[in-house]
Amino acid sequence: MSNPVTIKDVRVILTQPENSRLVIVKVITSEPGLHGVGCATFTQRIFAVAAAIERHLKPFLLGRDVDRIEEIWNMSMVHGYWRNGPVLNNAISGVDQALWDIKGKRAGMSVCDLLGGKSREAAHVYEHADGRDKQEVADSARSFIEQGYRYVRVQMGGYGGQGSPMVKPKKAPTGAYYNPRDYCRRMLDMIAYVREQVGAEIELLHDIHERLAPIHAVEFAKDVEQFKLFFLEDALAPEDIHWFRAIRAQCATPLAMGELFNNPQEWQLLIQERLIDFIRMHISQMGGITPARNVAIFADMYGARTAWHGPGDTSPVGHAANLQLDLWHPNFGVQEWRSPSDLIYEIFPGMPVVEDGYLYPNDQPGLGIDINEELAAKYPCRDIVEDWTQTRLPDGSPARP
Ligand code: MG
Repeated sequence: MSNPVTIKDVRVILTQPENSRLVIVKVITSEPGLHGVGCATFTQRIFAVAAAIERHLKPFLLGRDVDRIEEIWNMSMVHGYWRNGPVLNNAISGVDQALWDIKGKRAGMSVCDLLGGKSREAAHVYEHADGRDKQEVADSARSFIEQGYRYVRVQMGGYGGQGSPMVKPKKAPTGAYYNPRDYCRRMLDMIAYVREQVGAEIELLHDIHERLAPIHAVEFAKDVEQFKLFFLEDALAPEDIHWFRAIRAQCATPLAMGELFNNPQEWQLLIQERLIDFIRMHISQMGGITPARNVAIFADMYGARTAWHGPGDTSPVGHAANLQLDLWHPNFGVQEWRSPSDLIYEIFPGMPVVEDGYLYPNDQPGLGIDINEELAAKYPCRDIVEDWTQTRLPDGSPARP
């Protein structure tokens, strides 16, 4: 037996080429030239994640056998005793994805092949249409359809806060205000209009972003049923998941849920009771490919499909990991996607490409992606206090973003 390849160094790369601040982990091995990359992007708390990796995970990881992904994941999750938080999960994900990348490179196989091989050649993706009014949303959707997309998410005014009439109390603090009741009326009207404009063949999606009171989410899911969404996302907050039973009992609007979950066990009730149709896991938020694989296999047995979270604050490395899981999973649904700029393709060589609405892999070993560190260093992270997450109801009270 030859000596195991071990973890020689764990490095954190922070970069902000565009809006989102990205956290990439690079695991360097004892084998010269062999390294792996992983996504640890919790964009709102990047420095906490970096510290968790550099000060807590790295000392534990140095010298360990790179092949023991399963053991390393489980021990990383418990050896700090307190567990299941977004900072630590993202930190663990960066290492986990990098170890899958390394294992693939050593085997000369893609991560998809390590998981069991391809179920498909490419993954359906959906893009994000938005606008200030329904006409702009329809125009935005049409521009994606003309580029070959067959799945389009339709939002109006971001997550629906802009443009609603509301009376605020005197001295109301600043914030991203929205009016939930007006949201319901305007979104239904917009979705009806876009459906009429684009026809029945285009799959439309909508994300409520947990902005409604539970009973209004039930009402909205019923009202929108006639427009045949591909799915309605985050109708409820993680704290309100028992209300999914009420939605399920009253309509057949397909439901997607879970980007804010922290723990694989949070999927159990929803999948087992067949209360949702799509698992919207943010892979790094769950701790990486290892737990995503487990939940995906569990979901498959109950007929739930995957729709991994893939917005701008999933790093390109995270998107590459999403795609490897998409290609493999027998019950894949759709992949969220935001078209990256040329700069992103330059910083992250191997970033997957979209053609005719399909996301294609490059079939390189591992995740098939890397980071140009010198170029990434030219775009350092800026200190940001997020505005869009400072969400308020019309009377000024804080609300879920
Ligand atoms: Mg969402």
